Amino acid sequence: MSANEPGPEPMSALPATVRVESVLEPDDAAGVARRAAQAPAGEPLGDSAATARVTRSWKLDTGLLLLLGICLVPAVVGAVLYLHRQRETALHDAYRTADLVAIGTTEQLRWLLQDAEAMLASVAARPKVRAIDQAECDPILAEFRVISPAYKTLALRLPDGRSLCSELRQPPSQNSVQTSPWFQAAIRQPGFHASDGHVGAVTNEWTVRLTYPVKGASGQVVALLITPIDLQQLQQRLFNLLPTSALAAVVDSANRVLVRSARHDERAGKPAAVGVAQVIDALRQDARSAGGRAPASRQFAEIGFDGVRRLFVARQVPMSDWVVISGVAEDEALRGYYATRTRSLAAILMILTLATLAAWHLSRGIRRPIQGLAAAARSVARGDLTPRAPEAGPTEIRVVAREFNSMVLATAEAGERLRNSERQYRTLLQNLPVAVVSHANDGSVELFNDRACALLRMTPEQMKGTAADSPVWHFVDARGERVQPRDYPVARVLRMRLPLSPQTFGIVGADAVAAHTWVLVTGYPQLDAEGRVLHAVVAFVDISAQHDAEQLRLAKESAEAASQAKSDFLARLSHELRTPLNAINGFTQLMLLDPQLPAHRKLQLGHVLSSGEHLLSLINQVLDISSIESGQQNVATQAMPLGPLLETCVAICRPLAQTMRVQLVVEGSVMGTPELASVRVEADPTRLRQVLMNLLSNAIKYNKPDGSVRVTIRQDAPGNDGPDVHVNIIDSGIGMGPAQLERLFEPFNRVGAERTGVEGHGLGLAHSRALARSMGGEITVTSRPGHGSCFTVHLRQAGELGHHRIPLAPDGA
Ligand code: ADP
Repeated sequence: MSANEPGPEPMSALPATVRVESVLEPDDAAGVARRAAQAPAGEPLGDSAATARVTRSWKLDTGLLLLLGICLVPAVVGAVLYLHRQRETALHDAYRTADLVAIGTTEQLRWLLQDAEAMLASVAARPKVRAIDQAECDPILAEFRVISPAYKTLALRLPDGRSLCSELRQPPSQNSVQTSPWFQAAIRQPGFHASDGHVGAVTNEWTVRLTYPVKGASGQVVALLITPIDLQQLQQRLFNLLPTSALAAVVDSANRVLVRSARHDERAGKPAAVGVAQVIDALRQDARSAGGRAPASRQFAEIGFDGVRRLFVARQVPMSDWVVISGVAEDEALRGYYATRTRSLAAILMILTLATLAAWHLSRGIRRPIQGLAAAARSVARGDLTPRAPEAGPTEIRVVAREFNSMVLATAEAGERLRNSERQYRTLLQNLPVAVVSHANDGSVELFNDRACALLRMTPEQMKGTAADSPVWHFVDARGERVQPRDYPVARVLRMRLPLSPQTFGIVGADAVAAHTWVLVTGYPQLDAEGRVLHAVVAFVDISAQHDAEQLRLAKESAEAASQAKSDFLARLSHELRTPLNAINGFTQLMLLDPQLPAHRKLQLGHVLSSGEHLLSLINQVLDISSIESGQQNVATQAMPLGPLLETCVAICRPLAQTMRVQLVVEGSVMGTPELASVRVEADPTRLRQVLMNLLSNAIKYNKPDGSVRVTIRQDAPGNDGPDVHVNIIDSGIGMGPAQLERLFEPFNRVGAERTGVEGHGLGLAHSRALARSMGGEITVTSRPGHGSCFTVHLRQAGELGHHRIPLAPDGA
């Protein structure tokens, strides 16, 4: 990735620990479970896994329903138990009431029968009765009424049914009595007997009869005392105090109703309801099984013949086969229970509804903010930091939402800071004067700046992901030999995990043979906490300029050393030559002084002397150059006026100019003007004269017929450190090309003039420049082949007379 490309959003690289899991979403729970499954064996799952366990187990609604159930089920069970107990109590009370009625009725009947038995027994024991004398009937009956006024009639019949005494005027016939079941049952009894119900033959009413046997002297039954019970009276007596809610009846051994507390007339003589009769039969059976030791009783619920379900108690009446049945209407008995049950159910329903509503409200109040929190957390996990968790619901959730929002805000601010830092870092990296390439630990390029692309001459696309030993370029060492990829800086950093000391390499393109760029390379590793290499960063500094300068310096030093050697050699040689040459010139001059010398000898000696002087001049120049270059110059500068010297030089050169048909001009009115006269320079007059003479003579020598040489002077404004007086010698001569100009100032190099026939030895310019420099000046040149040249002598102005600009022509030929 190039350093100037936008990087990924920092939040998308957040560690998985920042991801916030929803405690409500099954998907998230599954995700956590999946991550838990992916966790290495033996590694603790951490808080998120614990959360996953919790979320896998139950949801909030389930939990609240469970809580609701835990609270309500015991209440409902308690209510049911309470209602059941209420019902049991109500039933018990109802049975108790019925039993009290049954007991009361039974007791009354027992007293009645005991009373009747006692009465009949006393009557039967009377002698008049035992005598079975019909004539005694009236006294017997009278006595009976005295003994027992409650009984209205009494009859005495013989065992064969014949009537002996009767208070009825026409008692039932013997036959009807003898065949009736009650008489047959009574005659078989050894003692008192209460009959079943039957219709009386005379009254035609439903009645029962109480009988008692009258025994003779031998103990056998001689007659039967009979008295009926008035069942209407009995009904009144038994049931007149009975509350209307209770029902009581007395049935005979055939389960026919003898008396009944309600609707007696309608029900008397009718059989009991089938279900009731079955229970009564069972009761009698139980009593027989128990041997009649205790009056049996039984409680049962049954639908009576009127269709009303009642709670019955049946009790056997002692001294008879009768059974008292007492019943309480079940609806009546359970009315209180039903009311309580209805109220309880209503209360339970209300509580259930209220609890459900409260649970629903609570669940919604918790679920909504948590869902909001979860949605915000999901957005954050996706890298979107704008949503906020709603600060609603219970205080605890509000606190969590507030903390979450603070965390998101802090994360966003941290992200912004990170992005700013990243931008700063990218800008810094991009604008560094250094090429930077960061490699992954496998050596591939990860990050780089534009300068790296420029140095390696690769496009960003070529750079991305490539290995360090790219085929597009390779390194060479300082000697120009190819460096092996394993010795590349990145390879060494990855191998040694240590920073590298700077090293110089040349970068050579794929098809090139020489380095296009020289770089100083450093490298360092980025390690993690365990010391493993994460990245290897390599930095390149372009030192091509320094490298070239160094190469140049070395070449220059070598050239200077060679030049120095040459100068030394020349100086020594010239010195060695000058001594004999002076001797030759001296003796030649002496010989020429001889008047007797023939003319042709004089001519020959003149040639010797002129050649010797030329040679001496050459040697002197060489010596002068070498002494100047070796710093042993004998130049003495002084402030001097430029004008007179220039005039002298021009005057000396004018004959040559005329000979060469070259026009020599010192620009216009300048000559002799006060301005030129005021120009003063810092120079050695002798040396400056040598310089000007050489340049003027060259301008004439290397000119064309009818050519011209112009001399101009320019003076700079004050304040310049360097030379500020410039003497231009401009000719319209043959001129020179760049190659000639390049080597113009080399001693003995005539840059091609040796082929022109113009005399010279190639030392003048070298000598002149050495002299100009020795005076703090310089000589420069511009030239065009065929158009002429302009040599300029730059001199330092002498300060005391001030600076004046001289209105001369500008530079250039
Ligand atoms: P020489 O003795 O040859 O003149 P110089 O050192 O004075 O030696 O000049 C070196 C060479 O520079 C000359 O040989 C000539 O080729 C060239 N040269 C110098 N001055 C001029 C000029 N004004 N025009 C053209 N060529 C010049």
